[in-house]
Amino acid sequence: MSNHHQILIVGGGTAGIMTAAQLRNRDASLDIAIIDPSKDHYYQAAWTLVGAGTYNYANTRRDMASLIPSGVKWVQDGVTSFDPANNSLSTKSSGDLTYDYLVVCPGLQYDLDGIEGLREALDTDFVCSNYLDPEKTWRVIQNFKGGNAVFTQPTTPIKCGGAPQKIMYLADDAFRKQGVRDNAEVIFATPGSVIFGVKDFAKTLTQVINRKNIHLKTFYAPVKIDSKKKEVHFQWTKQETGCVIQNGNPLGEDLAGETTVVMPYDMLHLAPPQSAPDFVKASPLAHQEGPSKGWLNVDKYTLQHNEFANVFGLGDVAALPTAKTGAAVRKQAPVVVENILTMIKSQALGGKKYEGYSSCPLVTGYGKMVLAEFKYDNVRDSDPFLSKFVDTTKENWSMWILKKYGLPYLYWNKMMKGKM
Ligand SMILES: Cc1cc2nc3c(=O)[nH]c(=O)nc-3n(C[C@H](O)[C@H](O)[C@H](O)COP(=O)(O)OP(=O)(O)OC[C@H]3O[C@@H](n4cnc5c(N)ncnc54)[C@H](O)[C@@H]3O)c2cc1C
Repeated sequence: MSNHHQILIVGGGTAGIMTAAQLRNRDASLDIAIIDPSKDHYYQAAWTLVGAGTYNYANTRRDMASLIPSGVKWVQDGVTSFDPANNSLSTKSSGDLTYDYLVVCPGLQYDLDGIEGLREALDTDFVCSNYLDPEKTWRVIQNFKGGNAVFTQPTTPIKCGGAPQKIMYLADDAFRKQGVRDNAEVIFATPGSVIFGVKDFAKTLTQVINRKNIHLKTFYAPVKIDSKKKEVHFQWTKQETGCVIQNGNPLGEDLAGETTVVMPYDMLHLAPPQSAPDFVKASPLAHQEGPSKGWLNVDKYTLQHNEFANVFGLGDVAALPTAKTGAAVRKQAPVVVENILTMIKSQALGGKKYEGYSSCPLVTGYGKMVLAEFKYDNVRDSDPFLSKFVDTTKENWSMWILKKYGLPYLYWNKMMKGKM
């Protein structure tokens, strides 16, 4: 096996496969290799539906081998470190590989030690996460008999920022069907200050929360889970004011010290803390300082590395000020492809720019969805064609059909083949 490739892609997830497929479609003579240790590839976007019992987990998985574009070499191995000054990287068992161009897209990692007690809590029957095991989420929802159903997310960036609340809207519907909603309090506790960053969509979500009688707790950062007592501890993050718990609080919240709220739970769903994979963090390719420390240091418009001109990055690992989603990857991949192809020909970047597009299919119940599309600076960026037929800021049945049937079809048959 040659140790040198014209284009080396680290990670064969949504970003790696899409980029490789588009490159091959543009030029079949390119020498491309993808390095990824996993034999499986998952369509993670459907895990929200799996967690709500309305999608088969097995259908979210495909063999990695079936997705590697023909003509692209798959090195089934894990990258351990980068040496970009020498156009080289190291792998666990395939030695060092060198490249002309490098595309870095190994996704992100879950930091289960980022919240005290999280690991142990996940072993109990009451704590679950669609990010880790969506089939368990559905079991926990079905077993819920009443009390506090708490949904929360960490202070770190996460992939699909809407996922922690989507599963809550579906759980609320499920509880009503199961006849347990009258005995339940549904709580969304977020470290953020708002339910959603883009106004038009936040307005609809606020209506949904009010209609469903959900308690929205802002400035609540989960820091500890005591799974023996079934309590979750939140740090109150709004510095300028003290935290006050009212007497007779229906959620049974209590204060521990000045700024910690202790909330009992009967079920708890959370997104785990997330960060760039350790081998990226430890490399010269990561931001070394500042708020993006550890994430891949790429230009937010060209996706070219800010120090190493023959390195590009996209997907969840990239330090981009927008939501980390597969939908974002769909708009990023053509920019990386165009730039690499132009560089091969002329040593200059192509003209395509990534404007921060991302989208979040906010499922608000069985049969209902709001399609939030936006770009950098939380500016709404709804698809003009779709908007001719549907007001995507409102809950729609047609968007639910898109989520459940349309997007999985497009993912496997078009996006993974580099056709859109
Ligand atoms: C619960 C949930 C719901 C979501 N909902 C949506 C949604 O509705 N819409 C949407 O657009 N997106 C959604 N997403 C997000 C979407 O799945 C991700 O943003 C997308 O998969 C990112 O693509 P990626 O290629 O960067 O990472 P991934 O697809 O995660 O792929 C990373 C790849 O890198 C590989 N890798 C890891 N370490 C190494 C290593 N050392 N060396 C080589 N390879 C390595 C992995 O094996 C993996 O194959 C959701 C995600 C989750 C978890």
